[in-house]
Amino acid sequence: MKTIAEILGIAERSRTFLIAGPCGAETREQVLETAQQIAEFNQVSLFRTGVWKPRTRPNAFEGAGNIALEWLKEVKAQTGLLTTVEVATSAHVEAALMHDVDVLWIGARTTVNPFSVQDIANALKGTNIPVMIKNPINPDLQLWIGAIERIQKAGIEKIMAIHRGFYTAEKTQYRNKPQWELPLQLKTYFPEIPMICDPSHICGKRETLQMVSQKALDLDYDGLMLESHRDPSVALSDAQQQLTPRDLKALIEKLIFKKSTTDNTEVQNQLDLLRHTIDEIDDELFHLLKKRLDVCESIGDYKKKNQMTAFQLQRWMEILETRAEWGKNLNMDPKFVEKICVLLHKESIRVQTEEN
Ligand code: PEP
Ligand code: MN
Repeated sequence: MKTIAEILGIAERSRTFLIAGPCGAETREQVLETAQQIAEFNQVSLFRTGVWKPRTRPNAFEGAGNIALEWLKEVKAQTGLLTTVEVATSAHVEAALMHDVDVLWIGARTTVNPFSVQDIANALKGTNIPVMIKNPINPDLQLWIGAIERIQKAGIEKIMAIHRGFYTAEKTQYRNKPQWELPLQLKTYFPEIPMICDPSHICGKRETLQMVSQKALDLDYDGLMLESHRDPSVALSDAQQQLTPRDLKALIEKLIFKKSTTDNTEVQNQLDLLRHTIDEIDDELFHLLKKRLDVCESIGDYKKKNQMTAFQLQRWMEILETRAEWGKNLNMDPKFVEKICVLLHKESIRVQTEEN
């Protein structure tokens, strides 16, 4: 797979593609000063900002609008940073293209709406501008895939995905729960599309940005998008999650960049050995699972003959309780043990109720 820098035809500044800049474009000075401070440490490739901000309530700060596109031209001329803005309508796309914005991104509130995505896709036809597509607010992989397909069908080849977390009614430490399994599923669906993590909108606060950024690198993400403002304390949107360029630099310096492959043959041999062991264990595990399913089938036949129901609450409760205890004795994560029990039980009921 090509790196994002190769896709964009630019020099790689850091081993991970870094995007940073303020949540919203507020004033010319705020945009330019933030960009200069970010450019100074030479790690960030792409400068982000929201020119038109999608806000939940109408009187909140909605970005400076078209005038900010002029400020971004100045950013490019003064710092050499490429620029990216969020687009939500065809008018935004046209304005951004007219002002030489280098990369566009589609926000989470837009990805949820196929009409809006199609409107943007139509405006993109005939251009070759790179587009980054954030996950939809709700954890619906199909919507994310659909938005990517609409942009692909418009002829755009340089596409990247951004993982910014998902809405959940559950109380969690995050502003948007990461649900790491969803972007990883997207990755298996579109192996060629680079995946960028947006820790700022996942965390909603500065304290956990380092941890989430590192987690993304550990999962072999291709890039990070982090919000940075010259003075977050007076930011007009997302003040809690923005970093000063100085703190951003410190965060990047603390990151441990890993590789998904190694050139060291000793390390590779050791890994191959461990993987071989895993293969053997999985083989055994599958044979055991098959054995278990065969017994389930016999139980099903027996219940049928004796006119008993396949599902028996008492037995299910007993399974949950005993396995939780066994798992605890083995120091296993109780949530994992419960998930396995639910899966095994579901399959057992299916086998017992299937017509044969
Ligand atoms: C943003 O990046 O500032 C933004 C509005 O993000 P999201 O679409 O992820 O909410
Ligand atoms: Mn924001």
